[in-house]
Amino acid sequence: MIFTEAQRVTLRALADTFIPSIDGPAEHAAYWQRRGSEGVDLDKIGEVLDEQPAGAQAEFLKLLDLLDTVTLGLTWFGPLRPFSHLQPAQREKMLQSWSQSNLPQLRKGFHALRKLFVFLYYGSSSTEASNPVWENIGYAGPLPADDVVDTVKPIRTLKPTEDVVYDCEVLVIGSGAGGGVVAGELAAAGHDVLVLEKGPYCHGCDFTQREVDMLGKLYDGKGALSTQDGGISLLAGSCLGGGTTVNWAGAFRTPDYILQEWAREHMVPHFTSPDFQKSVDAVSTALSVNTDYPRHNGQNQALWDGSTKLGQHVKLIPRNEKGLTDSEAHFRGLGYSTMGDAYGIKQGTLNTYLLQAFEHGARLLADTRVERVTIANNRATGAVAVHTTADGQEIRVTVRARRVVVAGGAIQTPALLLRSGLKHPHLGRHLNLHPTVVVSALYEQAMNPWFGPSMSVVNDSFTKLSGTNYGAKLETPPAHAGLMSMVLPWLSGLSIRN
Ligand SMILES: Cc1cc2nc3c(=O)[nH]c(=O)nc-3n(C[C@H](O)[C@H](O)[C@H](O)COP(=O)(O)OP(=O)(O)OC[C@H]3O[C@@H](n4cnc5c(N)ncnc54)[C@H](O)[C@@H]3O)c2cc1C
Repeated sequence: MIFTEAQRVTLRALADTFIPSIDGPAEHAAYWQRRGSEGVDLDKIGEVLDEQPAGAQAEFLKLLDLLDTVTLGLTWFGPLRPFSHLQPAQREKMLQSWSQSNLPQLRKGFHALRKLFVFLYYGSSSTEASNPVWENIGYAGPLPADDVVDTVKPIRTLKPTEDVVYDCEVLVIGSGAGGGVVAGELAAAGHDVLVLEKGPYCHGCDFTQREVDMLGKLYDGKGALSTQDGGISLLAGSCLGGGTTVNWAGAFRTPDYILQEWAREHMVPHFTSPDFQKSVDAVSTALSVNTDYPRHNGQNQALWDGSTKLGQHVKLIPRNEKGLTDSEAHFRGLGYSTMGDAYGIKQGTLNTYLLQAFEHGARLLADTRVERVTIANNRATGAVAVHTTADGQEIRVTVRARRVVVAGGAIQTPALLLRSGLKHPHLGRHLNLHPTVVVSALYEQAMNPWFGPSMSVVNDSFTKLSGTNYGAKLETPPAHAGLMSMVLPWLSGLSIRN
């Protein structure tokens, strides 16, 4: 999306209100003076918007229109002037008013803008220059390339250069936890498998540890998807390996009481059968699930110590990692694996099942978005997709398949099936989210929450509340400058800078 000059003026004014220039202590004058518009690349906002659903794009443009009219004043009982014509203190007041508004649309607009600006300001950097803010907030940024895997990519993906038709026995759409395992197992069993993945294939040194770039490359909607009301941000991996390339490597087994609930309430006795446990054992072995990591990072240690002091039971989280040493490079680097693991330690499908699929002859096609599954006589017969080449050319891909496995994740699978014309009363209706609610605190010592195994400790004291199987797991996620700034409250320009 290319913004008009008027929209750019509004966006710059917003950036400077969310993150104003402040006369701070002389020692770090450059940090305090650097205002939002100096740190936020407006073209990046355009790129993020391009990846959002059409409805969300239209709403964002409507928001910018509102901010550029005199009627804006009616939304906060302020002067009848466009946002960019207000005094800095009035602009801040307007944003504060929207953040507390009784009108959900205004609160949603406030949060959409807040998240975009603070994320880009605190998370951006380029290969030429680090983010000048990081030094002042103590964030390490990308690490030196010690121990990073820089070998040739082990999987050779197909790279069509013109419109193409593929025939295969099994088409697998999506390469994450579901698609990756299915592709690996079927290929190893001798089936002719083709995998289509809409995200890119990255390996080792491609994972640059630069937050804005990696979220833009590896996450669905460039990491900026949210629920329609804007209340919950949706993070989902979108790259070869899907969520398993970017996740926090916590490899829990589904608890017995949940399996029993599924078997009982959904009439699927398989979940309580020895066969199901055998399948989980097989996946755990393939992913090298273990608890042998040598140490915790600051926030996991704090969770362990705090829970123990309170007499609450606390456990190690099994993690799918292999080859982890006690070296500083591994310890620090592992904390960046939510932007893809540059060290080859995390055993997502990228390093396990997809590799197995490739070694058994499966064909894999990255950067290929399936538009719809084709259907004839009530049977799936293949798919039509668009492959984007390295130089941005779009190529039509048609697949003819005897079987089609749709494993595009909880958000995209129903959308793809609906686009394909499937009809079922439950299709797209029962999405359950697993919200990650963050509690932050100030510690006396530096926590460096960007280093170390992301999630290594869990306190399960509150997982079964009020006699139900539901509650909260207490864990600590990795924290990097951009995402952390998004989950901290914005009360004023000064509060976010402190
Ligand atoms: C930041 C983060 C941390 C997490 N941490 C953990 C953790 O520690 N432990 C844990 O158990 N779980 C964790 N998860 C969740 C876990 O990764 C997911 O539950 C799991 O990956 C879901 O598997 P899936 O196969 O259903 O979908 P995904 O793994 O999301 O894979 C779906 C794939 O399909 C592709 N796709 C979608 N639509 C199309 C299309 N039209 N055409 C082609 N390809 C398409 C996507 O690009 C994606 O790569 C985390 C997730 C995230 C995002």
